[in-house]
Amino acid sequence: MTSYKDLGLNSIINACGTVTRLGGAPMRGEVLDAFHEAAQEWVPLEQLQAAASRKIAETTGAEAGLITAGSAAALTLGTAAILARHDLGRMEKLPQTDGFPNEIIIAREQRSGYDHAIRAAGARLIEVGFNEVTSNAGVRRAELWEFEAAITPQTAGIAYVLGPGSCPGLSDLVEMAHRHNLPVIVDAAGELPPRENLNRIPATGADLVAFSGGKAIRGPQSTGILCGRRDLISSAALQMLDMDDHLELWDPPAEFIDRSQLAGIPRHGIGRALKVSKEEIVALLTALELFSTGAYDDDPPRLLGHLNSIQTGLQNAHAECRIVEPAARDRWAVLEISVDEQTLGRTAFDVCKALREGAPPVYVSHGKLSEGTLVVNPLCLSEESTAQLSRRLLEELGTSARSNDS
Ligand SMILES: *Cc1c(COP(=O)(O)O)cnc(C)c1O
Repeated sequence: MTSYKDLGLNSIINACGTVTRLGGAPMRGEVLDAFHEAAQEWVPLEQLQAAASRKIAETTGAEAGLITAGSAAALTLGTAAILARHDLGRMEKLPQTDGFPNEIIIAREQRSGYDHAIRAAGARLIEVGFNEVTSNAGVRRAELWEFEAAITPQTAGIAYVLGPGSCPGLSDLVEMAHRHNLPVIVDAAGELPPRENLNRIPATGADLVAFSGGKAIRGPQSTGILCGRRDLISSAALQMLDMDDHLELWDPPAEFIDRSQLAGIPRHGIGRALKVSKEEIVALLTALELFSTGAYDDDPPRLLGHLNSIQTGLQNAHAECRIVEPAARDRWAVLEISVDEQTLGRTAFDVCKALREGAPPVYVSHGKLSEGTLVVNPLCLSEESTAQLSRRLLEELGTSARSNDS
């Protein structure tokens, strides 16, 4: 067996949570067991994905679902479904979209590096609204009329990134889009927990919703969920599954892939590069069951204990600690450590870098460094790694570190 150590790697302390860069979420034993067990036997993937679709439908209230290689892959596949529907010629062409509607409308303020996944399917993004709040040149956010005014015969659909305070409201946008017969695809990758969002977001009527499997659901890092309208999920599945079969033999479950819509069977589609293994599918379904039934509910108090012990350890350090309570009952608190840059003589950025370069390497969240603040997300911490983390923080922020430096 090959270990990280065999490969010359030191494992790190992950105080960032489920970030992809550091390997994602901690998986429960049940999830790893499911992966292991699924590897012992073989099943046709279209049947497995059809069964997953039923599970996802039960859990989310959406008509159907597909397990994808992450939320970004779900966005590519969902966009491919919106562009091609059940048109075999279009499926074959993607990401080439000459000759059919290929425009996806998106609010300029919702653009991010993740929308590369939408463009990868062949869509052209049409931006509406401005970024006035960020540019400090106004108070208005993206507005519904701006989306409606951007609709042309080239419009294929609307993309929406859900987050706290996303504008305009998703339900209003969906209602407007449906009046124009256009689908809405929602990036809700990071919107769990609260677990109620599994149902609440599809209940807006959004045609497709993408969730990450490797974040709070705590499935394999390389998994995600695309759920929504049955015909669009069918198209997405067709463009992802291995299609090397004979027309006469190919027999996918009818409620998952509607053969009556098809003039033949497509060849490998744009999503063939985004495949998911049987083990990943079963492991994610196990994690989804755990997440959606509250099996992780004991974690927030345990994780808060870790934060309290770090805070206690830093009482006399050149820093101010603050526990930030979670926004949802099944989310967990984080610890903000505001570095006293004056008395320490180093910036939060310096400390963050020194933590990464120390032994063991420690990675804290780096989203507030410009405000002089380190953030500890405790999801991946154990009692042991918390003790190591406390020691390293004290070495960098405490009086002892200062006297060593001078
Ligand atoms: C994490 C994230 C993604 C990507 O999700 P993966 O499951 O890692 O592919 C996309 N969009 C947003 C808003 C995210 O937070």
